[in-house]
Amino acid sequence: MTNSFYETLICSNCFIDEGLRLEAEQLGKSDSKTCPNCQSTLGKKLNYSNLNELANIFFVNGSIFRAEYGASNTIQFNEHHYKMSDLSPAKWLEQDLELISEKLKVGFFHYGPRLWKVGEIEPLKDLQDKNSREKVIGRIIEEFPKTTVVDGTNFYRLRKNPCISSNFNEYDSPPDRYLGCGRFDSKNFPVFYASQDLDICLHESRVTVEDELYLAKLALTKPITVLDLSESIAENGTEFESLSIAIHFLFRAPSHSYEILRDIAIFVSKCKLDGIIYPSYFNQVSTSYDTIKNIAIFGRPISNGLLSIECINRLILKHVEYKYNFGPAAF
Ligand SMILES: [Zn+2]
Repeated sequence: MTNSFYETLICSNCFIDEGLRLEAEQLGKSDSKTCPNCQSTLGKKLNYSNLNELANIFFVNGSIFRAEYGASNTIQFNEHHYKMSDLSPAKWLEQDLELISEKLKVGFFHYGPRLWKVGEIEPLKDLQDKNSREKVIGRIIEEFPKTTVVDGTNFYRLRKNPCISSNFNEYDSPPDRYLGCGRFDSKNFPVFYASQDLDICLHESRVTVEDELYLAKLALTKPITVLDLSESIAENGTEFESLSIAIHFLFRAPSHSYEILRDIAIFVSKCKLDGIIYPSYFNQVSTSYDTIKNIAIFGRPISNGLLSIECINRLILKHVEYKYNFGPAAF
């Protein structure tokens, strides 16, 4: 790279597209010099590496689409496509796209994802097919580690709008009439959900500032053995055959995955295991690695004495923070 790498190329005020301008303000640096492109002194200045990052955030990450399972970006850029862009941006983005392409000497193009990224994974397809599901669940139980969680281990459980907040049973698995709505529970198969990470508890419960919230601290009264689906396992094959990626996509997917997860839970319980540790969709917000992100314990562990309540607090949400990036509306 030449020594122009750190030189200001453009500034945030060079852009017409509002999302791009706001992203550029986040990435650029303030200085009183004049922008070599638009002569503004007030815009945040971007060098080559800032501009490259901006292009990645806005065009690559900003063009992500979610498949039923998995996700992929639909725009990519590189120097081989310089002056050969095949995008059709909105009119407010045309000039900005041209400017970035020229400054980075790259071209932006429609990108065909590697198909495993959008769910073309054999074990995942077999899980979606009721005829082959059981066989894959057998492999999952066989290949993922079983972990003992020792007695005394603490978990948090958050309750929204309980009738009587001091009633311990309010913190147990939901009553029969509500079963079959969660990730792992089904009719006649109650499941208790908890976490050691308070932020994940809040995210998973999808709470709002209007909710009346109570947090219970619980402790295991005896050791339990659970299947740990948050661990990655050693595999020899390609991504297209990966059981780990299949599991990862299953937990990242919305509620259409629950039908499969409920069958997994029933099979795991038949293998005399007490529950499942599973990854959180909100892993990225978590700060500690040693905590159990999410645990599902089969049955009603509070009423059957497996979990004791050590403390209940009211929890008051101060505010809910949104984090966001921008992407193109059309391409
Ligand atoms: Zn400028």
